[in-house]
Amino acid sequence: MTKRLILSLGALLLSITVHAADSVNILVYHHVANDTPASTTISPAGFREHLQLLRDNDFTVVSLTDAVAALRGDTSIELPEKAVAITFDDAYENIHTNAFPLLREFEAPFTVFAATDPIDQNFQNMMSWDQLRDLQDWGATVTNHSRDHDYMVRHSPLDDAWLQAMVDNVNHAQQRLTDELGADVPRWFAYPYGEYNETLKQALRDEGYVAFAQHSGGIRADSDWGALPRFAAAGVYANPETLITKLNSRPMPVNQTALPDMLTPETRPSVTVELTDPSDMGQALNCFVDSSWVDAEWLGEARFKVTAPEALSDGRHRFNCTSQARSGAFFYWFSQPWLVQTDR
Ligand SMILES: [Zn+2]
Repeated sequence: MTKRLILSLGALLLSITVHAADSVNILVYHHVANDTPASTTISPAGFREHLQLLRDNDFTVVSLTDAVAALRGDTSIELPEKAVAITFDDAYENIHTNAFPLLREFEAPFTVFAATDPIDQNFQNMMSWDQLRDLQDWGATVTNHSRDHDYMVRHSPLDDAWLQAMVDNVNHAQQRLTDELGADVPRWFAYPYGEYNETLKQALRDEGYVAFAQHSGGIRADSDWGALPRFAAAGVYANPETLITKLNSRPMPVNQTALPDMLTPETRPSVTVELTDPSDMGQALNCFVDSSWVDAEWLGEARFKVTAPEALSDGRHRFNCTSQARSGAFFYWFSQPWLVQTDR
């Protein structure tokens, strides 16, 4: 009897063990204001609505520091289920004025990626170093978004001199950040406009940076730490319903090393996605090229291919694919960013 009791107790304990989350979704904002460009802006009222939405739907806003550390193997940090990290690119002054009071009110940690020249040159509408120190003193993280917010891979030729200039650019910004904000500034980098290529990504990885891009999706231990996705949450992406769907999603288990370079001369680029564990994924894929639905082609149990159905213009594009999980009410999410440059 005792043995059976112990056995069933064991089974009970097993079934109620709460597993630490193995993925995190990161949001990226730019402006929080009423008078800035619509595509990269959310109003203060809209931003409050997002924070409330997260709270009402049991999401936990975690610091990106904890998220990165936990996913990279720091076992002293346990990520809660439904973990979300909040980031802001560019360090606009309206983040200090409009977003910071709300983030404090909701006790939501956050990260700001700052380009350092505009701050050094006291650009209007950008935070000052003092304002960035304010955020940092409260517990926010301020880190690297390059020196000058250049389009890093829209140069010609992309030779060794170019690569060295880009690495110098990022290292200069890192030096300025640590000079002004201290040694706690993490070695993280957000690509301006989310644009990169394999060469730059590898060089920054060799310099010890964790880098963030702007295609959609969550991150997990086997993500590409040289170009981590983040979900845009402003402009047309601010809609609460679609935001919740994204926040509930998990990264599709994909072999990252088999993915193509973001920078491509092809006008009809194509990606073949190798799934590392398709067991919880439904067979039905919902894929989009930018905002147009496209048929994905299965090439076996664990491989599918998506091709642009017609020529894409020069510039940035995205493929997004989702698949309904078998085990719960959420989607697996995959995104492939492209920078089409036909003159390559
Ligand atoms: Zn930016």
